[in-house]
Parts: sequence; C-alpha cells; structure tokens
Amino acid sequence: MTPAPSATSIQKDTEPNSTQNVFGFPKQDGYTLSHWLQEVQGNPLLNHLTTPELPQSADVVIIGSGMTGTLVAKHYIETWPEKTVVVLEAREFCSGATGRNAGHCKPDQWRGFDRYEKAFGAEQALKILENEHQTWSDLVAYVTPPEDFAGYNGLQNSFGVLLPNGGLFSINPRSTTGGPILFGGHNPGQHELERWLQKNPERRTDDGLAGFEAVTEAVQEFAESQFLGWPAAPTNHPEIYSDRWSGIIALSADGVPFIGELPGLAGQWVCAGHHGQLIIWRFRYYSGMARIFTAAPGLVKLMGGGSWADTRLPEVYQITPSRIKRLHDDYSEESSGLTRL
Ligand SMILES: Cc1cc2nc3c(=O)[nH]c(=O)nc-3n(C[C@H](O)[C@H](O)[C@H](O)COP(=O)(O)OP(=O)(O)OC[C@H]3O[C@@H](n4cnc5c(N)ncnc54)[C@H](O)[C@@H]3O)c2cc1C
Repeated sequence: MTPAPSATSIQKDTEPNSTQNVFGFPKQDGYTLSHWLQEVQGNPLLNHLTTPELPQSADVVIIGSGMTGTLVAKHYIETWPEKTVVVLEAREFCSGATGRNAGHCKPDQWRGFDRYEKAFGAEQALKILENEHQTWSDLVAYVTPPEDFAGYNGLQNSFGVLLPNGGLFSINPRSTTGGPILFGGHNPGQHELERWLQKNPERRTDDGLAGFEAVTEAVQEFAESQFLGWPAAPTNHPEIYSDRWSGIIALSADGVPFIGELPGLAGQWVCAGHHGQLIIWRFRYYSGMARIFTAAPGLVKLMGGGSWADTRLPEVYQITPSRIKRLHDDYSEESSGLTRL
C-alpha cells in the first residue's frame, strides 16, 4: 500500500470559511427540473417498480438510482445473476446529479499529473492517469451504439471555453440546428453564487434553486459578446436564458472519490464523491461522472470479496480510517482558524 500523503500536501476544494457541516436529504418536492428531466417527464421508468410492494429482503440494497447506483446494480447482476438487488430512490429515477448535470461525460486522460503527484506521489499519480485511460475504454464500450443502430444524434461534441481568470463556460449544443444549447461550468457569475451560499449554507443541499441572476447575466453577456451573430439573432430574447436549474455535486476534500467498505460498518459500502467534469477550481480538473464506469465495477469486486488490487483502481480512492482521519483533521484545523501550510 502506498504511504499516505501528508495532510499539508492535500489541496482542498472548500472555500476557506465554508466549514459548516451541511447535510440534507433530497428535497421531496420543489426541486428544479433540468433540461434532461423535462424531456422524460411522464416516462413510466421514472417511478418504475419491479414488484408491487417493497421486498422484505434482498441480497443487496442500493441507495440511489444515479449513475453510481445503476452501474453498481448492472455489474452486480452481471456478476451474480442469481442474486437479488433492490434499488431505493428517494424521488424519481436519476433525479439527483445524474439527471441534472452539464452532460460532459469525458475521462481526463492527459491532464493533472503534476497536481496528483503533489497530492499523492508519483506512483499514485500514474495510477490515476492509468485509471482515466481504463475509464475511457469502458465508457466507449458502454456508449458505442450497435452497428445496425441508425439515426442517433445524442453523441455530439461539447465544448469548454477557458476564461482568463480561470473560470470556464461549458457549452453543450444538443442538436446541430435549432436545438437547445446548454451552458454550464464555473462562470464569473458563480462567484456571487458562492458568496451567497456562504451566507445561506442550508441552500447547498437544495436543488430547488431555479436560477441565480448573476449566473444568468454572465451567460447572457458571454453569449452576446462571443457568439457571432447571436445578439441580432431573432431567437435572442431574455426568455431563452430563463430555463435554469440547480444540482448538488458531491466533492471529496482531497479531490478523489470514496470507494470501499465503510470503516467499522461491515457490509456497508460507498462509491461517492465523483466531482464534476471540467469544473475548474483553482485550476484543477476533474474526471467527474465518467470515472464511475471504473469505480462501480471496482466496488462490486470488493463486495464479492476481492482485494483492492482486483479493482485496478488507485489506492488513494479507497475509503480508509486513516484517510478519513487525515481529511477530518485537516478540515478541523481549517475551521479552527489555523492557517494551513
Ligand atoms: C449541475 C451539475 C453539473 C454537473 N456537470 C457535470 C458534467 O458536465 N460532467 C461530469 O462528469 N459530471 C458533472 N456533474 C457531476 C455528476 O453529475 C456526478 O458526479 C454524478 O452524476 C454522480 O452520480 P451519483 O449516482 O453518484 O449521484 P446522484 O446522481 O446524485 O445519485 C444519487 C441518488 O440518490 C438519491 N438519494 C439520495 N439520498 C437518498 C436516500 N436517503 N434514500 C434514497 N435515495 C437517495 C438521490 O435522489 C439521487 O437520485 C454535475 C453535477 C451537477 C449537479
């Protein structure tokens, strides 16, 4: 096992004083509907039940029907077809981050070695980049349509525009002509949103926030100043910027996911903290949801009694008592007002 990095080598994703512990269950109503969720409203799969009543028992109970829950279920069933699986979802199918993200599902095969080396050492940094390559292969295998499948235009490219101040607009055109264009990322208006969230920490776990003016204005200003012909286009009226939604991203304090059996809680497993693609936070890039394509099967191997080596994941992704303690101490140190080295 690779030695743990020192606490001082770990960079954090939290703002200096964003130390309030914020917890919350998913909002039962009043959550915003993303572009994707709007498109599937009324689809019977959203509230699908395979049995009329909740089963009294199952071999495995998965909490959450996002990409993590569904991919864990898929790999579990493929590995043990005779076992029973129950997926519990608090709201509609994929109504969490999976159903409300910017849609950039891309492994990050090339970037980040320096940052990972600084945080975790060269060996782990190489393993992380190897994992990104594996993620790319697994993701491509998953989304490649069958040869006889024609007319599918969902796999268009998406773009990221880096701003001089390190911010980013992610742009996702969903159609070649006349279709919606989705803007996401970490744009200039987001700084004001972050300041507002500092003052309203309870809203951090609230995906009912339907738009924030500074963000909307930043998108409008960017589109009108940077897209040729956009200001004079007949479609350019204020309402086109009003289709907005919010979501909750799970970030780990050291920038890599938590995978494995929960320390001290035998039989309970976690696969979480996947971050979001193309979020640039102090010039850091994250693989985001793509990595779930290797994280989920890795977890299933562990659930079946496999060793960490069997997962082929970097050791620094594993949830261990020492990692939790290190992050906790680092976090506490910051919240106590001590300056971090
Ligand atoms: C606005 C936004 C933009 C993003 N953009 C990108 C992007 O462009 N690229 C990228 O790679 N990543 C992006 N992400 C991150 C990405 O969406 C997540 O990493 C990924 O979807 C996480 O999947 P998950 O299954 O782990 O979590 P989720 O999709 O959040 O699934 C968790 C599920 O568990 C349910 N749940 C929670 N608690 C309970 C409970 N107690 N009981 C029952 N059910 C429960 C929730 O309702 C939810 O459906 C973005 C996220 C957001 C919010």
